[in-house]
Amino acid sequence: MNVLPVNKFGALETPFYYYDVELLKNTVASVLAEAGKYDGFHVHYAVKANFNPRLLQIISAAGLGADCVSGGEVQAALGAGIAPSKIVFAGVGKTEKEIRFSLAAGIFCFNVESLPEAELINELAGECGRKAEIAIRVNPGVAAHTHANITTGLAENKFGINYELLPEVIAEVQKMENLSLIGLHFHIGSQILEMEDFVALCNRVNDIQDMLESDMGLQLPHLNVGGGLGIDYEKPLDNPIPDFAKYFATYANCLKRREGQQVHFELGRSIVGQCGTLVTRVTYVKHGTCKKFVIVDAGMNDLVRPALYQAYHEIDNLTSDATAEAYDVVGPICESSDVFAKDRMLSQTKRGDILAIRSAGAYGEAMAFGYNCRKLADAYLSSEI
Ligand SMILES: *Cc1c(COP(=O)(O)O)cnc(C)c1O
Repeated sequence: MNVLPVNKFGALETPFYYYDVELLKNTVASVLAEAGKYDGFHVHYAVKANFNPRLLQIISAAGLGADCVSGGEVQAALGAGIAPSKIVFAGVGKTEKEIRFSLAAGIFCFNVESLPEAELINELAGECGRKAEIAIRVNPGVAAHTHANITTGLAENKFGINYELLPEVIAEVQKMENLSLIGLHFHIGSQILEMEDFVALCNRVNDIQDMLESDMGLQLPHLNVGGGLGIDYEKPLDNPIPDFAKYFATYANCLKRREGQQVHFELGRSIVGQCGTLVTRVTYVKHGTCKKFVIVDAGMNDLVRPALYQAYHEIDNLTSDATAEAYDVVGPICESSDVFAKDRMLSQTKRGDILAIRSAGAYGEAMAFGYNCRKLADAYLSSEI
């Protein structure tokens, strides 16, 4: 699986993203099969991980819903054919325009992150004579064992409403005529590989549900536990598909669902991460005094994760199998953080070689930018070349 057709790469302008459609389809099939083992489990693809329309179409055709964090993403999900009834919309800063658009589209649920936001949705829903279904995004105060920049469930993070404030906020929301509170939403972070973190979230959700029931007599029909399941960046070829069985079983075992309660998941990285590769060509090999640099034509603007999160990506030289040497693999951009790997063992590399930077399907193309007047890299699907 994930064998790259290097013979076809020579003619293409580098860098580019290459997506293995078969792997994506197998991954989506695995998600659906594993979630499908439990009644009332629904999976929404987190569009922000990769909004390439051709990938979205594959994901939509397989039947997943969408988790969006902007009006543009709601539009992209609709454009890919995802039914409005399967779209949820989170985000701390939803604008009036985005809310109006999503109300008109008739999305399933707004995941509301503050009281002022609830007030605005209430007002705008009233204007168009609708009742908006909302879930409250709760900041559960649960730490995730991942990089500090991608934890979201702590009091210091901007996301959601602190669980201690929940009863007051719910009391306010219940007074708003054009809102219908249907659930609670959580999302504790990304690239989480320890199931214990999800167990901790379940425990907190259970406590909150007990509290709402005993203090307010409130039971809600939906729980949305977010996404965050990680992928194996170190051994992508050995583990191309994440362990969805273990992930969903954790929730099935630990979440105390009320009768008929539906559970929603928002997976991004775990669905698209491994199907994507950033393919880049070596422009120069430069020998410094203490290091050898492989300078490639991809930069941090094409894949920002290493610069942003000190993230690890496997790198293989697809055109050399000579003895390995240690290199720093760097991009051409005028920033010292434009580094893909330090002291990485790579087959002896020369100008013109083609490198594969693996596991670039999530938060790669989606986070690309044009710094240094660089053109956004093209994307190719395995089914097209
Ligand atoms: C980013 C995000 C997700 C998806 O996270 P992954 O780690 O890619 O699974 C899910 N829900 C919300 C609200 C998000 O912001």
